Amino acid sequence: MNTSQVVNDTPEKRRACERIEELRSLIRRYDEAYYTEAQPLISDRDYDRLFAELVELERQYPDLVTPDSPTQRVGGAPLQEFAPVHHRRPMLSLANTYTRQEVIDFDQRIRNALKGEPYQYCCELKFDGVAISLHYQEGRFVLGATRGDGLTGDDITENLRTIRSLPLVVRPVHVGGKVLADFEVRGEAYMLRRDFDRLNHQRIAAGEKPFANPRNLTAGTLKLLDPREVARRPLQLVCYYLDSESVQLERQSRNLELLAALGFPTSPHWRLCPTLEDVFAFIDEWEERRRSLPFDIDGIVIKLDSLTQQEKLGTVARSPRWAIAYKYEAEQARTVLQAITLQVGRTGVVTPVAELEPVFLSGSTVSRATLHNASFVEQLDLRIGDTVYVEKGGEVIPKIVSVDYSARPSHTKPWRMPQHCPCPHQSILHRPPGEVNYYCESPACPWQIRRRLEHFASRGAMDIEGLGEKVIAELVEAGFLQTVADIYDLPRRRDELIGRPGWGEKRVQNLLGAIEASKVQPFHRVLYALGIRHVGEVTAKLLAQHFGSLKAICSASREQLEAIPEIGPRIADSLRTFCVDPEERQIVERLAMAGLSLAEHPTKQEHAKKPLAGTTFVFTGELDSMPRSRAEELVESLGGRATSSVSRATSYVVVGRQPGSKFAKAQQLGIPILNEAEFLDILRTHGVKV
Ligand code: NAD
Repeated sequence: MNTSQVVNDTPEKRRACERIEELRSLIRRYDEAYYTEAQPLISDRDYDRLFAELVELERQYPDLVTPDSPTQRVGGAPLQEFAPVHHRRPMLSLANTYTRQEVIDFDQRIRNALKGEPYQYCCELKFDGVAISLHYQEGRFVLGATRGDGLTGDDITENLRTIRSLPLVVRPVHVGGKVLADFEVRGEAYMLRRDFDRLNHQRIAAGEKPFANPRNLTAGTLKLLDPREVARRPLQLVCYYLDSESVQLERQSRNLELLAALGFPTSPHWRLCPTLEDVFAFIDEWEERRRSLPFDIDGIVIKLDSLTQQEKLGTVARSPRWAIAYKYEAEQARTVLQAITLQVGRTGVVTPVAELEPVFLSGSTVSRATLHNASFVEQLDLRIGDTVYVEKGGEVIPKIVSVDYSARPSHTKPWRMPQHCPCPHQSILHRPPGEVNYYCESPACPWQIRRRLEHFASRGAMDIEGLGEKVIAELVEAGFLQTVADIYDLPRRRDELIGRPGWGEKRVQNLLGAIEASKVQPFHRVLYALGIRHVGEVTAKLLAQHFGSLKAICSASREQLEAIPEIGPRIADSLRTFCVDPEERQIVERLAMAGLSLAEHPTKQEHAKKPLAGTTFVFTGELDSMPRSRAEELVESLGGRATSSVSRATSYVVVGRQPGSKFAKAQQLGIPILNEAEFLDILRTHGVKV
């Protein structure tokens, strides 16, 4: 639509047209952040409000509806890295509401459409996860996909296989005299709150951006290209939909029972509700009880139970007419912002933190909340003395969601990011181009020093028992520790340590023993422990596998670094900055002298067993001799890597029957291509019997 089309329209319609365009572009931006990047920019409630406004405007002006409007389509787009899967029945979204009146209106529409037929609802919990589709043939799991844009999703079979509760083979179940063996199941992948907290804490400790909530972490996990990495993240599964062409299914409630009988994880918390009162009772009950669940639900889903009646009602563009989601408001508390302080992380990142008048929220007292970064505070125009709303919603620490500007006291001043680090050195804060964060660039900043030491000694890194936050603070204060290399000088200063109050001989011995023991940590752990900006645990492992030593990493060109699919320009830049920094080099030298591994050290025997070390294979299409997962295992057993996307770093692409887009990409990049027989030859050469 363009303005010339609407010149003859009323001013109201012109205004509506402009607002529609504005809403669509906002929603598209938020969709991209939410679905593709798994990092939402605004709260679900705010998003739903904008979406509802767009729906309402399009209802008023139906001629302004365009097929590409977000109201006409579902979710995000399929990703290029995975093979596409076309859904036999579209995977739709659900109309949602936060009000009871709309549930009453929904019931009225059903009643009218069914013209006096009796009906009942099946009410279920609305799991706050990521929709997935699972296909079974002859009772075996053959394909798993994401929802994608509703019509086409991504083939994430290998990632889904890592979910332990997903049955690879189902139990025999008869329906109408036939065995239920070929069917599709849909459900939700999600994460328990405690697992989410643990993983997010690890990310924060590694200087990586935390995920906003368990749902986003689940979405990010399912899109990982390496199924082994997915396996390390504990995903859960719950199923709520069954469809089969060969067997006649009748009711949603019966399908939930059949799913459980087949061996799928289902939720026991569903209820048949013959009346609207029963539906509201279910809503009220779970509004309270949801807090006792170990995972997040964001509402309940009300579905017509009869599948025949569901068919009769059909669907509109993006959601079925026979179901509605009633969403619960996230719990919020109102309080006053008393101060904004700055927190310094180990990489020098300086983030503003809200100091709040303590307030009780979802079971605990909250007195601090994250403010993300300076732009966040500036965009909200948040000022000391403001009355704010805080929300918990699964996050590690609560966040400020909005400000009650009407309650703002007079004489408040806009907040500006201070120019200096709050540490005693007060160095000037610096914001690298393209980044939202400010950094304290002073390597002598004692706060950074402490964070770096804490990270270095932490469990996922060098794992030095007894060298925790308190001990580090004490030893930094007393001048024992400045850099991570000083840790390995502590044995020489044994007597000085023993002389300190509270430090008996035994305690010192234990600490020195733990320091000595840490020297056997493998190279990838040392690399991670060094605390290089943006190099988390996974990246450190990848770098170690690809390059084998810190020396090789530091002599690699930008292109060589970026040839690894998971390494982007940000990481490459940060590695190069680290490698040329004279102080870092000195620290590394001292660590090497102390005996830490700065390279992978395969023994001669190991080397002989790993003839494919340094080679990366990608498989596309089906192999006749074995499933793809077996082929990948064999490559790995010979020391090679099997990844799922083709890049310049790929050594070989093995092409089976009906190859996907990876074949074309390999040709385009000039990567050596092997057919199945050639691949088997390589295996045989290295002693594998195939
Ligand atoms: P939705 O999450 O509101 O509802 C549909 C989904 O519910 C289904 O696809 C299914 O995955 C899930 N579901 C969970 N339990 C279910 C059950 N028992 N039965 C059936 N389905 C069940 O819709 P959506 O299309 O996935 O996402 C749209 C919503 O996502 C928006 O309403 C908004 O809240 C949120 N969103 C937020 C942002 C943001 O920036 N914050 C951006 C885009 C979308």
